[in-house]
This record gives sequence, structure tokens and C-alpha cells, in this order.
Amino acid sequence: MPLARARCQNCSEPLGDPPHVPVPCRCGACGSDAPALFAADGQPAAFETMFEPAALVRWFGAARHAMASGRLGVALGACAKCHAPLVVSSREAVRLPCPHCQTPLQGEAATVLVDQWPEPWCRVEGGGLALEYRLATVDDTTGVTAGCAACGLATPANEPGTHCRRCNAVTWVLRGTGRRAQLGVRVDGTRAGHPFKALVPICHGEQMLQRDAVTSASAESGRSLMGITGVGCAIGTALVIVPIVIGIVYAMAKC
Ligand SMILES: [Zn+2]
Ligand SMILES: [Zn+2]
Ligand SMILES: [Zn+2]
Repeated sequence: MPLARARCQNCSEPLGDPPHVPVPCRCGACGSDAPALFAADGQPAAFETMFEPAALVRWFGAARHAMASGRLGVALGACAKCHAPLVVSSREAVRLPCPHCQTPLQGEAATVLVDQWPEPWCRVEGGGLALEYRLATVDDTTGVTAGCAACGLATPANEPGTHCRRCNAVTWVLRGTGRRAQLGVRVDGTRAGHPFKALVPICHGEQMLQRDAVTSASAESGRSLMGITGVGCAIGTALVIVPIVIGIVYAMAKC
């Protein structure tokens, strides 16, 4: 998210104001026509980016397919019907008129729209975990790489090839002026009380999130089971002790 509100170069009014512009898009998963509404600053008008872990695992899976096939595109949001990512080609011509003076911002989707692939995130807590998961776009010029999205093989920085040496999946896609980009999964937080920060291949990120979600869910259900057992024990103890006390009182009265 930009810190300052982007303003129109012509009229200086905020570009994020309504009315918003529909960017045409067909859902690749269920085929429904799903135009996504964007403000002229390139941000989606309404995309709820806090996901449940299971939904984020599915989002990661779609990103792995898109990355490995070399058709990453620009994600606009999630399909209202099936929650799959809505994606347009990064070359798609987009035109967003200023909401105040109609002067259009136009160009290729990758330069005009804020890519939503890395926006959805989730939090996993419990069982010694406090972690946040999301996709990260890695730029080849930084020297940091995530690895092959499909098989997890390391992808050394500045490697000339754009395909995985092991599984032949696409490992780098061209973005803008010859820059190479890759998607990975970023994990931030604490694990067993220790700081944990990692950038991993998407396939590994999916497995890690799935495992961590199970750990956190079983820690959660363990806690509530303890609660139920605690109450059960109290009732059970009362059922045993009360008759004994009554018995003793009765016996003492008879003496
Ligand atoms: Zn759909
Ligand atoms: Zn304007
Ligand atoms: Zn591979």
C-alpha cells in the first residue's frame, strides 16, 4: 500500500476516490465473467486480503501453477464465485480515468495496476507458533531467490537460465524493462518462542502452512478439550463425593 495518496498530475485530486473503474477479467478456474473494480491509483476498490490458512494454501497453489507455467500475469483479486485468483496478462492494455478530471492513466497492466499476488496473508497462532504467511515477489537484481515454485530446487542468483534444471518449470518471468521476477512464500514471526523468518519455494510454503495450520488447530482443540474434561471431572468428583458425605452424615446420625 502506498503511504501517500496518489494524486492526479493534471488536477491534483486524489486518484483513489470513487467512482472506480471495472477492469474486465474472466475467472480462469470457473469461467465466470468477473470484472474487478480498481481506483485510478491502481489499487483494487475492495479486496479482503486477510485469508483463512486453507484459502491461502489454495492461493499459493494457483500461484505455483501460474509461476511454473511462465504465465504469472497480474492478479486483480479473488473470484467472487470460486475464490480463485483473477489474473490478466501483464501486457494487457489498461486505462484508468481520473475520477475528478477524467485524464486517463494508461499503459500495460503490470505498470498501471498494483499486482495483488503478494497481498493475501494469514496468521497462524497456537502450539508455539505465531507466524504470518504471504507471497513475496523476488527481484533477480537483489541476489535473493526463493527457488523453483514447482519442485523447490534452489535457483542461484544471476543464473542465465529461466527454467528449472530439475523439472523444467519456469523459474523467472520478465517484468518491466528486462527485470526478472520470481514468486516465493515469505514466513515471518516466531516458532517455539524463537524469531522465524524465511523465504521458501512456493511448493515448500504450501506444505509448511498446511502443517502449521494443523499444529495450531490441534493446539486450539486440545485447549477446548481440556476445558470440557475439566468441567467433566468436576461433575464426576461431585457425583462421587456427595453420596459419600451423605453416607457419612447418615452413619454418624445413626450412632
Ligand atoms: Zn471463479
Ligand atoms: Zn484529475
Ligand atoms: Zn523445479
